[in-house]
Amino acid sequence: MTKTTPIVEIKNLTMGWGNTSVLKEINLKVNQGERVAIVGPSGSGKSTILRLLAGLLLPREGTLKIFGQDQNYLRLDQDDPPDVRIVFQNPALLGSLTVEENVGFILNKNISLKKEYIRERVNACLREVGLYDISDKFPGELSGGMQKRVSFARALINDEQENTKVPLILYDEPTAGLDPIACTRIEDLIVKTTNFAGGSSIIVSHVLSTIERSSERVIMLYGGKFQWEGTIEEFKQSDNSYVKQFRAGNLQGPMQPKDI
Ligand code: ADP
Repeated sequence: MTKTTPIVEIKNLTMGWGNTSVLKEINLKVNQGERVAIVGPSGSGKSTILRLLAGLLLPREGTLKIFGQDQNYLRLDQDDPPDVRIVFQNPALLGSLTVEENVGFILNKNISLKKEYIRERVNACLREVGLYDISDKFPGELSGGMQKRVSFARALINDEQENTKVPLILYDEPTAGLDPIACTRIEDLIVKTTNFAGGSSIIVSHVLSTIERSSERVIMLYGGKFQWEGTIEEFKQSDNSYVKQFRAGNLQGPMQPKDI
């Protein structure tokens, strides 16, 4: 991968189930350091894009490259999988493991790494998300907000000595169900963690404040196609009928939610 290779490059990608096409010939480039939001009403295909990027699905047609590597196999079947991290809507921590074991999970699989080194890396990532002295606690002993932060720390963990790749972090509805102040904290954390990891982020969200505070570029997905794309400033001012309807939450307009 050269410095100019896009982190993600999707060309004419089509995906669907049975006779139904969910994504229709979509094209997307995400460059290093970018934070891109994918927005759209329920059923528009946002999760399908995330699942393709996470290597849980393969395109039906077209190509998907991550760090310049063609994604022809599911992630589990790849010998040298790309470094893609996911922050889920729910923290999804393993309840029987300590915070340190949760955050350091992927490093613990490397038996050549010393315990002290892993602890140091875990603590560095926990500090980055504002958590101190909780390595030995279990997820059940933490508040929901702290668990969420731990899940951010888990997405950041790397072996500084080995890791030469730039990670791609996928955020799936990171602020759904949170109060406005907690939302702001998480939105700032998305910017911070993306910068800390030195990579790129793709954020799927319905929450306007999250889109506006955490992303630099917005893609509006509807009917399996990218209907609009622009910078966050353009998103705030656009006269595009899709963007206007989404921002105002109007029932009238070109979009009708599918799965509600
Ligand atoms: P969003 O995340 O925007 O709500 P999804 O990507 O979850 O949308 O779904 C897009 C469309 O694909 C929806 O109409 C959904 O019902 C359909 N879909 C998703 N997964 C499957 C599946 N495994 N089988 C059939 N249809 C599916």
